[in-house]
Amino acid sequence: MLEVENIQVVYDNAIEALRNTSFQVEPGSITALLGSNGAGKSTVLKSISGTLYPENGRVRSGIIRFDGQELAQLMPDVIVRLGIAQVPEGRRLFIELTVEENLLIGGYTRSRGECTETLEEIYELFPRLREKRGAVAGYLSGGEQQMVAIGRALMARPKLLMLDEPSLGIAPVIVRDIYKAIVELNRSRGMTILLVEQDAALAIKTAGYAYVMENGRVVLDGSGEDLSKNEDIREFYLGLG
Ligand code: ATP
Repeated sequence: MLEVENIQVVYDNAIEALRNTSFQVEPGSITALLGSNGAGKSTVLKSISGTLYPENGRVRSGIIRFDGQELAQLMPDVIVRLGIAQVPEGRRLFIELTVEENLLIGGYTRSRGECTETLEEIYELFPRLREKRGAVAGYLSGGEQQMVAIGRALMARPKLLMLDEPSLGIAPVIVRDIYKAIVELNRSRGMTILLVEQDAALAIKTAGYAYVMENGRVVLDGSGEDLSKNEDIREFYLGLG
């Protein structure tokens, strides 16, 4: 479904954040990207969604292909229309708008009727958001805000949903609810998921396949099960020695 081949990304025409990064996302999978801070995981997601530009970053070489179509030169809204939505790190909500207003912003590529239907599906997935639909987003807990950010991405009805650190800074009970929803989207609604996660144990448990990044490169990949047995992974990422 998604093929990333040998991409090189630079910021400010100088800082090489990705070098020869390659990986694939199979349709219907949950695929994870792991790696420590600064390894290049967020840059990978931004390269795919076309959102590097505001940060003065650009894909200098390599190919990103989604369902056979090359993405590298496309604008973010075109990429959303092709079926890719991203939940950015740090959520980036409009904190003065209500939950429902934030969700509706995610449906900007679709008709009002389609949005109403999808809104209902999001409230089924996250009942807390239905209760708080009229609340101002800035007053929600971090976990609830993450649900809004995921819901906003779902409003575009993506085939591929990309999530950047959905567990970051969120209470463990809510992380569990969020991961339950991610698995439900994948299993019951057939959505393909690309997950960036610092919590390697959680990512490996959730994903069918994972890639490990270091210094802008993929250094290791395997099924969740294989990686959980790998000694380096156990020592450096799972702290199991
Ligand atoms: P984190 O979990 O901290 O977000 P990451 O694996 O997602 O880490 P990236 O954010 O993709 O890593 O960063 C990869 C490299 O690119 C780092 O060296 C980082 O300092 C650099 N970088 C990221 N964004 C920018 C930017 N806007 N301008 C310049 N350099 C950047």
